Amino acid sequence: MIDAILEKAESGFDLSVDEGVVLLKQTDSDAIEKIRQTSDRLRQKQAGETVTYVVNRNINYTNICEQHCSFCAFRRDEGEEGAYWLDWAHILEKATDAVKRGATEICMQGGLNPTAKIQDSSLKYYQKLVDTIKAEFPELHIHAFSPQEVQFIAREDHLTFADVIAGLREAGVDSMPGTAAEVLDNQVRKILCPEKIDAETWIEIVQTTHRLGIPTTSTMLSGHIETPEQQIGHLAKLRSIQQVAKQSGLIGMTEFILLPFVGQEAPKPLRRRVGHDQPILADALLLTAVARIFLGNWIPNHQPSWVKLGLAGAVEALRWGCNDIGGTLMEEHITTMAGAIGGTCMEVQDLQAAIGSLDRPYAQRDTLYRLLVCA
Ligand code: SF4
Repeated sequence: MIDAILEKAESGFDLSVDEGVVLLKQTDSDAIEKIRQTSDRLRQKQAGETVTYVVNRNINYTNICEQHCSFCAFRRDEGEEGAYWLDWAHILEKATDAVKRGATEICMQGGLNPTAKIQDSSLKYYQKLVDTIKAEFPELHIHAFSPQEVQFIAREDHLTFADVIAGLREAGVDSMPGTAAEVLDNQVRKILCPEKIDAETWIEIVQTTHRLGIPTTSTMLSGHIETPEQQIGHLAKLRSIQQVAKQSGLIGMTEFILLPFVGQEAPKPLRRRVGHDQPILADALLLTAVARIFLGNWIPNHQPSWVKLGLAGAVEALRWGCNDIGGTLMEEHITTMAGAIGGTCMEVQDLQAAIGSLDRPYAQRDTLYRLLVCA
C-alpha cells in the first residue's frame, strides 16, 4: 500500500490526510527507508541539491510572560528569579554585534509582558523594538513576532489583527515567524497551552499577515501528546493556508520547520505523560520525511532544528527531505532553557562543514531564500 502512496507523491500529486497517516504509522524499517528515499528525491526535485543557511541572530527581548504554557521553561513572572527585560541600548548592542558578524536577519520573539507599553500602547512598544534596530541598520531583515504576540497586542490595545500587523509592517517588520502553532488541534492545545490562541485564530492571523504582504514561516511542535492523525491534520492546515496564499499570488509561508519537543525542564505531569525529555530522533526523521512528501508541492523549503536535534541530528534530517539547515542564531534562550542539547550558537564554518560532510554544496541565503554566497 505504501508503494502506491509514494508513487502518487513522486508523480507530483498531493497526498490525502489518510495517506499521510498511513506513511506516519509505518514501523517496518524497509518501509521507512522507502519513505526516506522518496522524501530525498522530492527534496531534490522541489528544492535542489544545495543546502542553504542564513546568518541571523535571535533576540528574545523579555521572558516575562503572562501565560503558562505547560512545556515552557523560558517564561518568568515579573520579579521572579531569572526574569529579564532588555533595554533599548542592550537590544541595539546585540544588533550591532550581529551586523559585525555578518548577520542579514534579526529574529525577535519574547514573552507576553503586559507592562511593556509606550504611552499606554503595546503596539508602540513593539514598534520601538523594531525601530531601534531599523533606524541604525535599515538593511537588516526583521523577522519578528508570532501570531500569539499579534493577538496579545491587539487585545491590549483594542485593535484588529490587521491594524496590528499593518502597524508592525510600518515599523519595519519584513516577515513573521509561524511559531505558537504547536499543533493546530484544539484538543492538544487545551492541554499543552490552554491560554494560547486557538487553532482558528492562529490561522486567521497568519492569513491576514499574508494578505497584508508579509511572508511567514510555518512550524510544528512534535513528539509530545499528539497522535499521527493530529500531526497530519496540522500539515493539512498548513497546506491549505499556503494554497490560498499561492492562489492569490502571495509568498505565504517561506519554509516549514519541525520543532521536536524538548521537555527536560517541563513540569512533571507533562514529562510523565510524554515519557521522554529529549526528541526521539527516529520519530522526528520519519515526520520530517512525511512533511516533505505532504507539503513539498506547496512549501519547498524544509528546515530541521539543530537546537533541538543537535547538529548531527539536523545533518541527518538533510537526508530525510530537508534542504536548509537554519541559522547561526548567535544566541538562543527559549529551547535551551527547556533543556535542549543542541547549543545556542553556530559558526558559519561549522554549518558549512556539517553540510559538506554529506557531500552536498552549500550556500548562504537571506530570509526569503534568495542565495547570497555560493560555495
Ligand atoms: S511559550 Fe511563549 S506564550 Fe507560552 S509561556 Fe512561554 S513565553 Fe509565554
